[in-house]
Amino acid sequence: MNRSTSEQLYQEALQHIVGGVNSPSRSFKAVGGGAPVFMKRASGAHFWDEDNNRYIDYLAAYGPIITGHAHPHITAAITQAAENGILYGTPTHLEIKLAKMLKEAIPSMDKVRFVNSGTEAVMTTIRVARAYTKRNKIIKFAGCYHGHSDLVLVAAGSGPSTLGIPDSAGIPVSLAQEVITVPFNDLDGLREALATWGDDVAAVMVEPIVGNFGMVMPKPGFLEGLCKQARDNGSLVIYDEVITAFRFHYGSTQTYAGLDNHEDITPDLTALGKIIGGGLPIGAYGGRKHVMEQVAPLGPAYQAGTMAGNPASISAGIACLEVLSAEGVYEEMERLAITLTEGLQASADRHGIPLTINRIRGAFSTHFCNHPVTDYEEAQDTDGEMFASFFRHMLNRGINLAPSKYEAWFLTTAHSDADIAATLEAAEASFAAMAAGD
Ligand code: PMP
Repeated sequence: MNRSTSEQLYQEALQHIVGGVNSPSRSFKAVGGGAPVFMKRASGAHFWDEDNNRYIDYLAAYGPIITGHAHPHITAAITQAAENGILYGTPTHLEIKLAKMLKEAIPSMDKVRFVNSGTEAVMTTIRVARAYTKRNKIIKFAGCYHGHSDLVLVAAGSGPSTLGIPDSAGIPVSLAQEVITVPFNDLDGLREALATWGDDVAAVMVEPIVGNFGMVMPKPGFLEGLCKQARDNGSLVIYDEVITAFRFHYGSTQTYAGLDNHEDITPDLTALGKIIGGGLPIGAYGGRKHVMEQVAPLGPAYQAGTMAGNPASISAGIACLEVLSAEGVYEEMERLAITLTEGLQASADRHGIPLTINRIRGAFSTHFCNHPVTDYEEAQDTDGEMFASFFRHMLNRGINLAPSKYEAWFLTTAHSDADIAATLEAAEASFAAMAAGD
């Protein structure tokens, strides 16, 4: 496959844009380096690159593009918004409509505030929790990603439940000390952390279904135990549902069937992003009324945004949720994901490639290892070199995946049986090549 234009553009990008990319997750560093593919057009489940190669897309822009690229209903909504004026700096009726749609789908959010990214949404939930509890520390879970703000870019130190160390340069160690990291799915670790630092823990924050070291379900009782321990300690519970909301059904993890009793797993605050903007920049946070009343202009916790609630993002979000509210949408994505994951597993098995697949409805992660993946430690056994080889074989056969061994594959409403069949054909050839040492 000729990708010479991408290679040229990458060289040019390197001259002007740091690292040639506007988010490190787009770089091919984790899959052996070189030029990422420069895409120029997308429609439905497909991409075309600058050399006119076509790809079937499972990246879905890291999640937001759940209705496929350039969905006509979303495109029309954005066009209309642009024609009506792109940014007002005043309230609009559209914001009320999307807020009501979110509240209806996620009843724990009495009050909502729109921001511009998942990072902002999460960052602000922490401020609100601190303002409400008048405590400083937060507990998070190893391997969960909550955006790039200082407090959440902190990893575990050594030991099962420890004060954090910065995961990035530029974060003061003193700040990282305000974060305690415990393993996901580990209620004993949480109990230990709360016993040690509980008096100063403002919130326990979690991706209730993990999307950032693969797709990992909470063990039965984990969220219930987490909520109970936090409440008994006077700490708030924050769910980061930036990936999970509207991903598996029309709602969020806290309303997802098959999990613990919903009343027992209801958070105080929820952070949202991605899908709720239909592909335009957005974030939102919300929660119990008396907690949200901490936020300015009602309360002392300040948060603002020039672009927040802009008509284009809000219109795209409304249109996206309208598409997702149609009957059978999630069932169809799940049906395709089942066919795809069963085929991938059979193909890998046939060629002796170790593969564990974690699938939740229409999203799944592929781990090149021989055991279940239920926490970050197990996820780290995913063989990075094997993934890199698989990634490149698939890319050369027209399948676009995220260049990261932990990232999920996302089905969209635009994928078809023909796409799945073509993907399985590419995977069979890729696994065969890998088994042959290629
Ligand atoms: N939280 C989670 C769970 C995420 O997966 C992400 C992004 N991948 C974020 C927060 C940050 O969102 P954004 O990139 O919109 O800032």
